[in-house]
Amino acid sequence: MLDIQKIRLDFPILNEVINGKPLVYFDNAATTQKPLPVLNALARYYEHYNANIHRGIHHLAEKATSAFEASRHKIQTFMNARHVEEIIFTYGTTDGINLVSQSYGRTFLKEGDEIIISTMEHHSNIVPWQMLCEEKGCVLRVIPINDAGELLMDEYEKMLSEKTKFVSVVHVSNALGTINPVAEIIEKAHAVGAKVLVDGAQATSHIDIDVQALDCDFYVFSLHKLYGPTGMGALYGKKDILNAMPPYRGGGEMIKEVTFAKTIYNDLPYKFEAGTPNIADVVAAYNAVEYVETLGKKQIADYEHELLVYGTEALQSIEGLKLVGTAKEKVSVISFILEGIHPQDVGVILDQQGIAVRTGHHCTQPLMQRLGIPGTSRASFAVYNTKEEIDKLVVGLERVKKMLS
Ligand SMILES: *Cc1c(COP(=O)(O)O)cnc(C)c1O
Repeated sequence: MLDIQKIRLDFPILNEVINGKPLVYFDNAATTQKPLPVLNALARYYEHYNANIHRGIHHLAEKATSAFEASRHKIQTFMNARHVEEIIFTYGTTDGINLVSQSYGRTFLKEGDEIIISTMEHHSNIVPWQMLCEEKGCVLRVIPINDAGELLMDEYEKMLSEKTKFVSVVHVSNALGTINPVAEIIEKAHAVGAKVLVDGAQATSHIDIDVQALDCDFYVFSLHKLYGPTGMGALYGKKDILNAMPPYRGGGEMIKEVTFAKTIYNDLPYKFEAGTPNIADVVAAYNAVEYVETLGKKQIADYEHELLVYGTEALQSIEGLKLVGTAKEKVSVISFILEGIHPQDVGVILDQQGIAVRTGHHCTQPLMQRLGIPGTSRASFAVYNTKEEIDKLVVGLERVKKMLS
């Protein structure tokens, strides 16, 4: 059993007072808060061994390099990747998807090839593929969903053919909380020879990730949704595929030798890491992953599920509240609309009570169009949230209703 009150002490920001009320932070699907071990690692790096990595022979450069590479090993084991060079540091999920669509997509996809995504994708897993389709003449196809927010797997199977070359799907929906059956999606895509990318932005903090068991070709996520720093993420790719891909960005670090006649690229993973990376944040990512491992993924998931069940029941008891996203398999994300009240007004009035939720389309406009709504209010829970905070949300929502109806 996790000691939630003890865990809360690790997150100094939870002591903030907002509009005279203690902060209730329910916007974890947008970004989680950072625990002391991560904050301390950032300060320690800048105070004691800030230096540019890989090229220096002085003490600080070596120390920074080894901390940077230790993070890569940490993420390798966290995802159960076979080889450490299969972990590429990126600026986040968006960056990872763009890397794959630009490098793999532009090289291996051609006119008439089909790319499959789903209705519940984040804009960052839609737009890069649209850009590729525009450039290469590929065709984008979209797996439909049911009203509960679950993928229609029969429809997906019907879409697959020898024309399918790439499938890019979200593991867990940020807007609905739906956990998608990615293992099955991957297996079926591979059966027709297509490669698969999984957008794991919302999955890594809730679900155990094993890229070898999943057999995905690419897996991308952002550390800032996993209690880590903003502006950094990781891309996992199978080694032989990454080796076959050209670099995404050119510059320092990604080369072995440069002449004006010809440049020889560096080996994995450096081939994809041009320029000075986000060293401090990569270094502190180690501590974020370690923090989650120390609490235990299973323990975190069990507790968050408790919050999900409690929160779902509590919110359902509010008259005029409609849940959006009622999939059987869900993480602790609750999207909802209050009858006759604009989500933005819900957000503003909750904020006056110190409660932070997200309102709007959640970077999933096509999903909102499919559901026939302009947006939702979304409460998303992390390991430091409590049932008492959910009770405050219920009181807050009752106040919203009183004020606006
Ligand atoms: C947040 C999110 C992204 C984008 O992540 P960035 O860190 O903004 O690059 C992509 N997909 C999903 C499902 C997300 O939740």
